[in-house]
Amino acid sequence: MILENSLQHKLKERTEKNLFRQRFKRSTPIEADVIVDGKKYLNFSSNDYLGLANHPHVIHAFKKGVDQYGVGSGASALLGGYTHAHHALEEELAHFFNYPRCLLFSSGFMANSGVIHALTQKKDSIFIDKLAHASLIDASLSSPAALFRYKHNNTIDLKHKLKKSIHAIPFLITEGVFSMEGDLACLEKLISIKNETKGVLIVDDAHGIGVIGNKGQGSTEGKQHAVSMLVGTFGKALGTSGAFVAGSDVSIEALIQYARSYIYTTAQAPALCEATRASLKLLESETWRRTHLNNLIAYFQTQANSLGLTILKSSTPIQAILLGEDKKTMICFEQLKKRGVWVAAIRPPTVPPGRSLLRITLNAHHQISHLDYLLSCLSYFLINKNDEL
Ligand SMILES: *Cc1c(COP(=O)(O)O)cnc(C)c1O
Repeated sequence: MILENSLQHKLKERTEKNLFRQRFKRSTPIEADVIVDGKKYLNFSSNDYLGLANHPHVIHAFKKGVDQYGVGSGASALLGGYTHAHHALEEELAHFFNYPRCLLFSSGFMANSGVIHALTQKKDSIFIDKLAHASLIDASLSSPAALFRYKHNNTIDLKHKLKKSIHAIPFLITEGVFSMEGDLACLEKLISIKNETKGVLIVDDAHGIGVIGNKGQGSTEGKQHAVSMLVGTFGKALGTSGAFVAGSDVSIEALIQYARSYIYTTAQAPALCEATRASLKLLESETWRRTHLNNLIAYFQTQANSLGLTILKSSTPIQAILLGEDKKTMICFEQLKKRGVWVAAIRPPTVPPGRSLLRITLNAHHQISHLDYLLSCLSYFLINKNDEL
């Protein structure tokens, strides 16, 4: 019972600090409206930025994939789980993102684990942005290389840490779009530091792909030659599930040989690859989704600012209202929920202490009228009723 007691204590503490996490059961696809625990909400919490998760072409491709391959892939990629669907998706991704080669992973978490673990060695050093995703941090912690965490988007701190380190290869690691606050990495600066130090730059662009750039290649669009490895996930704008890593021929071959999270896991379901192939086509054919989304983003920023809401500056679908206090964040979440609006309440350790926020995500299903309703609720609670929170 010692374990049970200590867990109970830990959970109680988490609850008292307003940090307890709860899951809610949704019964509908991701659209502008969703039904959660039997009640309808206007949804501002999904990462399905382009509205592809329930797109008829994607669904059709998935079903066709099931008809051809069945459901499970049956084995790991190296032991027979790799199909024509996997291969075709890898080729199409490499072409779309303008890299020599791509490799599929079952999730972004595993892609980051695989890349960092397979490519770094004891004599190297990793320099990672302090606000980088948990999967990047965990992968870096488990690497034998020395680890330095530089202040968020602060290349002066990065350079300072580079000077202090003795290493064979410096690995610079960042998110392209920071997943909680929605701001962009200072890629130009990171690229020049990478070039000066003859280092490796790894960009996890989970939230940029499909959304940023004229072609939707993400925050590295046009800079592929300078970004050594690009990690992308399918669970966000592509509306499916899984991930990929893009890079040089040699680095991808090294991943196939050494990335444990690639080798020792069942290959993705082939039908899922077919669905992602359909999503990728839609990035190119339904560009109105990106345009519409960008209009929504611009509108939301302008209106929030003119209403006096303290919204973080962001040109991405991730719009954060920084509240700071965990309790206030939860009260706001509950109040919005009562009015039929679903947003994400983000608290530590997902964000640093004191940076709790409402994470509002916009997607191509939204209309201006949806945003107006959200804005009216937000300004009612955060401006008119602020004293009561
Ligand atoms: C979501 C996310 C991941 C994890 O991707 P999954 O495919 O959901 O495991 C990795 N990195 C970042 C920046 C993410 O936002």
